Amino acid sequence: MEKIIARLTKEVLAGRLGPWKTEEAALEAGVAAPEHIITGARIRRAVIEAKSGVSFKHIRLPEKPYFIEYSCPKDGSEWHLAADDSDLNCGMCGTPLELSGTHAPVCQPLVNNYIGGQEDYFSYAGEVTVNGDVEKTFQNIVCYGTGVGHLGIGVGCFQLNKFGPLEIKVSDWGRAARNLAFIFADEKERERARDLIKKQLPEITRQMQEGFLDQFNGEVYDVDFLYKQHHSDRIMHCCFYTRFDEYRGHGCTSRAAGLAKNYIDDLFKKADVKCRLSVIGMGRDGDLKPSPRNRRGRYVSAQQRIPVAVYEKNIGRPIDEFLSYIELDRQGVLEETGWPVYTGMGGEIIPAFYRAMKNNPRPYLVSCLQKVYAEIHGNDLVFGVELPNVEVGFPSGPEGIIPPMSREALKIAGIHSAKEFCAALAALTLGGEFNFATLHVKEKLYTGR
Ligand SMILES: [Zn+2]
Repeated sequence: MEKIIARLTKEVLAGRLGPWKTEEAALEAGVAAPEHIITGARIRRAVIEAKSGVSFKHIRLPEKPYFIEYSCPKDGSEWHLAADDSDLNCGMCGTPLELSGTHAPVCQPLVNNYIGGQEDYFSYAGEVTVNGDVEKTFQNIVCYGTGVGHLGIGVGCFQLNKFGPLEIKVSDWGRAARNLAFIFADEKERERARDLIKKQLPEITRQMQEGFLDQFNGEVYDVDFLYKQHHSDRIMHCCFYTRFDEYRGHGCTSRAAGLAKNYIDDLFKKADVKCRLSVIGMGRDGDLKPSPRNRRGRYVSAQQRIPVAVYEKNIGRPIDEFLSYIELDRQGVLEETGWPVYTGMGGEIIPAFYRAMKNNPRPYLVSCLQKVYAEIHGNDLVFGVELPNVEVGFPSGPEGIIPPMSREALKIAGIHSAKEFCAALAALTLGGEFNFATLHVKEKLYTGR
């Protein structure tokens, strides 16, 4: 067994065997089922250890890293249960389950490209090399769930890297925002209130930074005012924008805005400003709401240039037809959702990445926006993806811990900063989208062709 693992690990490292084919290769080498599933996972783990220089410790391989197919004799429902699950009753009617189909257990890997982990099943999706604002080769680790989607990531990254590293552009700062809202009876009073706040802004932001932001290397970089009206309510919004290099900064920005609110309330009291309502008005700051006006998180993009002639040969049709495909999908998303944010594979890849890495935020909805673009520059097809609002608190900190398994996944992946987190995420998303788009325009996805 150890000899087979050593030999097949070498084959994968030499590029002669795909990391997704190790179970199959183990069977061919004479390893009996379901032991071939364990062998396949162990080969991938050895490959990743060799490539990353990091040994697995917290991401453990269970004794039986596979599931067994059962069915309920009463209602006919199918139950695919982890081999170490001790509850072998139907989850709906409680009837003891029977092995599905035959009398021998039908065993499958917990997820495709499984490399370890319990409940969160970690998958290996190959590697990707990037340059630009980040220069690095990342090992792609995701908690995708069941299914084959992550294979698409690995294939896409491999295909794109044939033309060199993916170019990454990522902003220096991650942004956060918190908005205060006030209601006045008339516009004159609102004007007076704004002037008062404006005069005090240097002192307010100084106190916000000293009390809450300095500790996380954060600062207030902008404050803006917005007038709105609802019948007789003269509304004034005052939004504080902050930025951070490694922290997400969401929690400390909220507390700093709380300090600003108290300061301003005192200011109004002293100057006898008639303010009917003073509140944190979260509806204006983009808090966890995906929208084109969202100004939170960090911008990152990944793109690759491919000679048009080479790509036309790959897809077997003129490049205009590929551009038409991209446009019909862009138009579809624009008209269905109201704004041109494309959520093809990204809506699945980005959560899979957050689930594996478990950096904050855990509710990562804001970070899942993406725009795919395809343009012709000279003789090249430029294929790219933009993620405008990636939120990440890299060193965890005040918003909760990063568990040991995920810290290990980050280390294995080669991610050591917020910028690298964003770069790996964008590259992975581009790889998945590229594979997806290419298969669609070749009419090969879901068609069995
Ligand atoms: Zn049942």
